Amino acid sequence: MAIIAFIGLGNMGGPMATNLLKAGHEVRVFDLVPALVKQLVSDGAQAAKSAENAADSADYVISMLPAGKHVASLYIGDEGLLASLKPGTMVIDSSTIDAETARDVHAACRDKGIEMLDAPVSGGVAAAAAGSLTFMCGGSEKAFEKAKGILGDMGQNIFHAGPDGAGQVAKMCNNMLLAIHMIGTSEALQLGTKNGLDAKVLSDIMLASSGKNWSLERYNPYPGVMPTTPASNDYQPGFMVDLMAKDLGLAIANASACGSATPLGEKALGLYQQKQQEGDGKRDFSSIIELLK
Ligand code: NAD
Repeated sequence: MAIIAFIGLGNMGGPMATNLLKAGHEVRVFDLVPALVKQLVSDGAQAAKSAENAADSADYVISMLPAGKHVASLYIGDEGLLASLKPGTMVIDSSTIDAETARDVHAACRDKGIEMLDAPVSGGVAAAAAGSLTFMCGGSEKAFEKAKGILGDMGQNIFHAGPDGAGQVAKMCNNMLLAIHMIGTSEALQLGTKNGLDAKVLSDIMLASSGKNWSLERYNPYPGVMPTTPASNDYQPGFMVDLMAKDLGLAIANASACGSATPLGEKALGLYQQKQQEGDGKRDFSSIIELLK
């Protein structure tokens, strides 16, 4: 069993840390929000006063933070964790961030003789709670082999996508596709119900037809079709509109830099930005269906 520092206990990090406790690890937790730390302590974790305090003598440091700027400031610079981490500690960043920042953290870790993986996840809050996340990892083969067991305590599918930053590239591609098929699914359900069809009946038909996709199967955006989705709970996240807009921004910026065409990704970003402008940034991303009503 390992000593694990877990930094960032939000919608995803909280249940991921709980699964590490269930697997028998010693987990030291830190978040800027004290109530989130308290919740994990009631599950058996040790509260830390700071990220440094959590990481002190840990075997692994796992971070699950909102965006690249949070990850860079956690690890890099005079105030960053890398200044005090002991060699032999391993860093696993599971936040969804831009590949460039991930590579910067990899390089800073290498300078200190510390192994690192960028290991973003897919599956959402339900998979985080069930321990069935998909991890997509970037880094050396050696780092991947070292982290695989720990990641397996939080997820079901553990992929080595390639070298430093490759996990973030895979995640960026996946989430652009997710954004697009959530909008497509919402359009189809809205059109069908406007024509008098029942949303559940139409969903069942499309699930058995060529329109089947993850949004329809696991995360139906129409209220009442699936009792446990954010749509049936006033679009409480889940996965916030703000985070989806961030992820689409990463994909569009990358596509523009490498000269790859993403017309639907750009259209999707415009729609999520519209949702943000309407004050819905903190609601679940499946609330995009409300724009179509
Ligand atoms: P969240 O906002 O619920 O959680 C982030 C947590 O990080 C917050 O509790 C915040 O207080 C904490 N935090 C921020 N800066 C910190 C710091 N310096 N030190 C300690 N704690 C700090 O977000 P989330 O939904 O858990 O998402 C986390 C990451 O996972 C994001 O990058 C997101 O894109 C990605 N992701 C989310 C989902 C999802 O369904 N929610 C799915 C896959 C990936």
